[in-house]
Amino acid sequence: MTVAIVGGTVVDGTGAAPARADVLVEGDRVVALGPGVAGAGDRAGAETTVIDASGQLVAPGFVDLHTHYDAQLFWDPNASPSPLHGVTTVLGGNCGFSLAPLTPGHADYVIEMMARVEGMPLAALRAGLPWDWSSFGEWLGRLDGRVAVNAGFLVGHSTLRRLVMGERAVGGAASPADLDALEAALHAALDEGALGFSTSQAHTHNDGDGQPVPSRAAKRGELERLAAVVRAHEGTTVELIVPGCLNGFSEEEVDFLATMSLLADRPVNWNVLGVSARNPDSVWNQLAAGSAASARGATVVALTLPHTMRLRLSFETGAILDGLPGWRQVFALPAPERTAALADPETRRRLDAGAQSDEAGILRALAQWDRLIFEETFAPENADAEGHSVGEVARARGVAPFDALLDVVVADQLRTGLCPPIPETEEDWVLRAETWRDPRAIVGGSDAGAHLDTMCGAVYSTSLLGDGVRARGLLSWEQAIRLLTDVPARLYGLRDRGLLTPGAHADVVVFDPETIGHGPVRRRDDLPGGSSRLYAEAVGVGHVLVNGVEIVRDQAFTGAVPGRVLRSGRDTRTVHAGSDWAGAAA
Ligand SMILES: [Zn+2]
Repeated sequence: MTVAIVGGTVVDGTGAAPARADVLVEGDRVVALGPGVAGAGDRAGAETTVIDASGQLVAPGFVDLHTHYDAQLFWDPNASPSPLHGVTTVLGGNCGFSLAPLTPGHADYVIEMMARVEGMPLAALRAGLPWDWSSFGEWLGRLDGRVAVNAGFLVGHSTLRRLVMGERAVGGAASPADLDALEAALHAALDEGALGFSTSQAHTHNDGDGQPVPSRAAKRGELERLAAVVRAHEGTTVELIVPGCLNGFSEEEVDFLATMSLLADRPVNWNVLGVSARNPDSVWNQLAAGSAASARGATVVALTLPHTMRLRLSFETGAILDGLPGWRQVFALPAPERTAALADPETRRRLDAGAQSDEAGILRALAQWDRLIFEETFAPENADAEGHSVGEVARARGVAPFDALLDVVVADQLRTGLCPPIPETEEDWVLRAETWRDPRAIVGGSDAGAHLDTMCGAVYSTSLLGDGVRARGLLSWEQAIRLLTDVPARLYGLRDRGLLTPGAHADVVVFDPETIGHGPVRRRDDLPGGSSRLYAEAVGVGHVLVNGVEIVRDQAFTGAVPGRVLRSGRDTRTVHAGSDWAGAAA
């Protein structure tokens, strides 16, 4: 199989300036790159598929280090919609949550934990996977030959701990025997191809019963022993979340992050660095953890999103809204009864009063109903509302804002997608661009495949390219492409990926620099078990190749499954703590 990508402008991932070049792919590798190479001699014969890239940029496929596609890949080999946005390699098993190793006795726990903590419908998890593997290697084997994208996975601390300690994993300290067993289980998973170790101490991570996930019960000594296991395995890494990722690191956390990196002798990445121009000091304080680590010979890197994360509120799922005082009872009702209740004037009065009360705390900001935006509506009579604020619709319809809101929701049979207003300024974008260029942070943290009822993180790449480069010019094309490709590939030591160069795996994206971007977030009812998720299309991405085979053409999936399931060592090389992992290019 030969593919010739002709007439395009190559942005190769190194940070070098764009240059007119053809790209010749044979089998799964790029074999030649340069002006006219694709048309040379007998190479471009009848067997050659020609992709016309005139007017387009040709780049290496994007590498998304932080996704939760572990479960979805079983029912959706495309890991949709990420490849539509140019992603060719996804990493899962993040935040302490992997789907292996597993025993029949703890599958239910893992399913319920994933559903709760990563916002995936229980019905989809139960219907979409067989849940009958045991070891990490067996789980990886289930995906071999069946995925469109390259996919690698960390092994999750909470999953390991539940396997080793059973019910004691929740809230219990590990005994010396548990620690030995945890170490052995981690060694086994890393031997079988796990790309590293992930864990979470985040206060927001609770299991299906509302209890802290198992990793949160680990003492520092346990975490340090497990980090030290990682150093024995080629091509591995460490990913973690601590409470300070959200509210600012304590001195102890800064020390902890660097210590984990030194014990593992690997970079540690954490997520996610929030960036707001209203509080720039907090950005630099968080990134200082990276400097403190470097001073000790460690590497600590933040993941940061290029775009503002917009959380969707919904009266169907109850996301966020069910935290308002007195609202939970209404969300406990089945959909038809809930719809009827929301149409009832007395119930409306009671809900509004609860939302406006002091008891609502920070959620009270939501109760400024007129500021909410109708992101997506469904009933024909609500066509005037989509894209407008509740206040605008209330004025047009001559009713009070809360009534306008609930009238739309009731007519939509609860499906309405709502967004809180985001006071985003151009200063926010400028500050964000500073963090993209900072070696202590890298672009990522999409969480794609997770939180399916509240967001679609897969837009991170097309947001960087569309909003950051095309619309605002905050980076050059070559800078932005490098951040989506070579930089993350190097952090994880991916072999022969991240650059468009002869000999590299032919993971390639062809896109239009005049139109690149993403569409609006829309609801889709395509999950196993009949549940829905949020989804966004891309704009301007014409072709995506994985290992030399086209998986996306004209923004649709081709159905091909050329993706490689990545194994540590075979597909990754070791990146040591304190090494100049990002290389000299900038
Ligand atoms: Zn995550």
